[in-house]
Amino acid sequence: MPVQAESGVGAWSRAEIAAFVDKVVAPRAAEFDQTARIDPSIIAEFAGRGLWGAVLSEADGGTGAGMTTLAEVHEEVGRGCSSMRSLLTVHSMALYALDRWGTETAKQRWKADLVAGNALGAFCLTEPEAGSDFAALQASARRTDDGWVLDGHKLWVTGGQLADVLLVFARTAVGPAAFLVEAANPGISRIPVRDITGTRGSQVAEIVFDNCEVGADALIGPEGMGLAIATGVLDIGRFSVAAGCVGILQACLNACVSYANSRHQGGALLREHQLVQQMIATIATNTRAARLLVWQAARLKDTGSPDTIMATCIAKQFAATAAAAAANDAVQLHGARGCTDEYPVGRYLRDAKVMEIIEGSTQLQHILIAADACRNQARVIPID
Ligand SMILES: Cc1cc2nc3c(=O)[nH]c(=O)nc-3n(C[C@H](O)[C@H](O)[C@H](O)COP(=O)(O)OP(=O)(O)OC[C@H]3O[C@@H](n4cnc5c(N)ncnc54)[C@H](O)[C@@H]3O)c2cc1C
Repeated sequence: MPVQAESGVGAWSRAEIAAFVDKVVAPRAAEFDQTARIDPSIIAEFAGRGLWGAVLSEADGGTGAGMTTLAEVHEEVGRGCSSMRSLLTVHSMALYALDRWGTETAKQRWKADLVAGNALGAFCLTEPEAGSDFAALQASARRTDDGWVLDGHKLWVTGGQLADVLLVFARTAVGPAAFLVEAANPGISRIPVRDITGTRGSQVAEIVFDNCEVGADALIGPEGMGLAIATGVLDIGRFSVAAGCVGILQACLNACVSYANSRHQGGALLREHQLVQQMIATIATNTRAARLLVWQAARLKDTGSPDTIMATCIAKQFAATAAAAAANDAVQLHGARGCTDEYPVGRYLRDAKVMEIIEGSTQLQHILIAADACRNQARVIPID
């Protein structure tokens, strides 16, 4: 069951989720990073608190209380462990797609298990030749008498080693389409991807579809609408990543304040040196700014405003860039110790770098943000 709210603002209070992260998630983040796998018991811990179903509100059959609460949950998990937050992100994307575009048969088959965390979802869009330009995807879906046959090659699938159900994008005779496919299908091979810079515990896989037969009900949404569905799902992914980056920023701030308050150099604590203060001030300011941008995107989602799409791009671009810069400064502030596993800041830096690439790289966000600004004559997005 979800944790009950203290304040009545949703299924979780921030204090409750923060305490859970401090007790259960953060202490294991280094282990997940070093072993490049998560312990299955943590999936059950998340399930016990209803976290896998939080992207859907209770009214929609989920466990969540809206996007503002979701942002807090994904920020807190991201503060403790970016690998777990990445797994939550792609799972949430698959569940969101199922709920919004799935057939009744597919919902009957998967929704309750995905909400409960009895099954995990993953998102398969990127291919060897189709990265940022995902419209160039080559995976194919051929219609048969009783369903579809999928062929193709997907790369960098977060949670791909663990997932039970895959949201797959493939090209039909009509155009790109989305499918929800059981990962245990004999036409699917999963190859673990190791030695990634960051989010090493998120168990990334390369996935090959070879004559993969699925039923007619595997199609999600109208045939030919795959790119629009991918864009809608990426908006949820970007939102989650942006919130997770706020978590990385907060973790960097916590680590820097703690170290600057205890390390002496030149006859003074580090915190008394003005150049150190500059680093801490910048991280503190960017943490707050990123959190406000995510909060704005969340509010706009909760009110159903289309402005949330651009607000989410802006939040993701700012939060990912700020998190990478903050983690770089956090390593700097820790000196040589920051370059060892004695402190978590090196992991924060590796995880933050990944955030500048996934769910639309920083360059892609810049393109989208600039296009929107120019198209709309630099209009002001309402704050609330
Ligand atoms: C740890 C990790 C997890 C991931 N998880 C998933 C997942 O779960 N599912 C999934 O489908 N994918 C996933 N990805 C893939 C990720 O979404 C892609 O890596 C990303 O979209 C970029 O594609 P690419 O790597 O092919 O780079 P490319 O598209 O080849 O880009 C290379 C560089 O060129 C820049 N660039 C590209 N096009 C332009 C342009 N038009 N203008 C200016 N600059 C441009 C990019 O910003 C980047 O800096 C993951 C990646 C990583 C590293």
